Amino acid sequence: MIKITKFGGSSVSSAGQFKKIKGIIESDPARQFVVVSAIGKRDSRDSKVTDLLYLANAHLQYRVSCDDLLGTVGQRFCEIARDLGLTYPISQEFGRFHHRAVAGDYTPEFIVSRGEYFTARLMAENLGFPFVDATEVIAFAPDGQIDMEKTAAQVQKAIEVHGRFVLPGFYGAAPDGEVRLLDRGGGDITGAILAQCVGADLYENWTDVSGFLSADPRIVDNPKSIARITYAELRELSYMGASVLHEEAIFPVKEAGIPLAIKNTNRPQDRGTIISEFTDPTTDEPIITGIAGKRDFVAVHIKQNHMSNKVGIVRRALTIFERYRVSIEHIPTGIDSFAVVVQGDDVKDCLYSIVADINTEIEPDEIEIVDHIALISTVGRNMPHRPGVSGRLFGELGRAGINIRMIAQGSEELDIIVGVDDADFEKAISVIYHGFIDSDENVITVAELEQSEQCRQKKNRGF
Ligand code: ASP
Repeated sequence: MIKITKFGGSSVSSAGQFKKIKGIIESDPARQFVVVSAIGKRDSRDSKVTDLLYLANAHLQYRVSCDDLLGTVGQRFCEIARDLGLTYPISQEFGRFHHRAVAGDYTPEFIVSRGEYFTARLMAENLGFPFVDATEVIAFAPDGQIDMEKTAAQVQKAIEVHGRFVLPGFYGAAPDGEVRLLDRGGGDITGAILAQCVGADLYENWTDVSGFLSADPRIVDNPKSIARITYAELRELSYMGASVLHEEAIFPVKEAGIPLAIKNTNRPQDRGTIISEFTDPTTDEPIITGIAGKRDFVAVHIKQNHMSNKVGIVRRALTIFERYRVSIEHIPTGIDSFAVVVQGDDVKDCLYSIVADINTEIEPDEIEIVDHIALISTVGRNMPHRPGVSGRLFGELGRAGINIRMIAQGSEELDIIVGVDDADFEKAISVIYHGFIDSDENVITVAELEQSEQCRQKKNRGF
């Protein structure tokens, strides 16, 4: 069993957090490969080291002194090393880095990468693990993408030489050997790449929350956490606004079929959330996994009498949106009308030009703009082939006096999307949450699951 454990900035923000990590690593021998972010905030007023290093770069660029900033960063590292009694000469090493940074010896990317570098140095000693530099492992191709072949070979070599190790996240080496950064939050990506290269059984992403919540806690009090979620469900929920992992962090492990666990460094006993492709029905499952939504969509309604007999109108309308490079969210259709639903932000500068083009190129009988629409997605891998879910959902919204302006459900039946007025957004989410997720009826037993699986297989064979 091999686990990749990645710790985010808040998990490594103090000596106390370093100690928690030591406990977590020592409690499971499968945790052999550790990836760390740069030390982050201890509380909401604190600064992240990465942000301070970006700021130091800006100061250097404008020839303003950054001594205070680098002094603050150095101090944070030294405090952790002192409190843990580490022997790594952080004060001298950081001092040398500070001096050369000010002298203009380094690229901006190198300067920013030192957040992860020094954190990993200290973490390696804290755990008694070897340190491996990310420039020796994570290889960028000339096009800026990760060179997976080279990276995999370098990972193997690092394992042969060191066995287990601590690796700084967020950066790697360009083909010329210079430090290159991943996107912000890229420590998650490093962990996922490592998991794929090692062929890990589990990628653990340790943070300061106990997994994903089934609804936005700013809208619903104390929402339940999600025990298991599939990649497809996660994609739906994150697309609809639930804040989750760095999207690119999901791809390498998804491709390799490696489950990803979100765990809380401050509450390691909490089960967290497992993201995996397969859900074997060994325990009871929820019908609805989670709810997420976004405000401020715009629907452009196009009506033309006897449209149902004409061919090509929808295509011509969509071509106009494409011309303005506007991505389309939904296309609910009627007999002689259809609507194109887009994000308000995407059309804020071109909506009237789009409408003018539709008028001249399609000559509809009527065109109407409805704005301030919120879309709410109710997601559940166990919804397919389960009659009554949408009936209940619409019933709950109806009883709460919420008018539904639009409905969409794909044939995969993974989610039900309803459009409501922006003003009803929070109420609708809360009603759906309390009507479903928080109710006893959101549970399907293993026996029911097996039965429905058999039904599904029978039906599929019928095709
Ligand atoms: N330290 C980097 C950032 O703040 C990367 C990471 O935290 O994963 O974006």
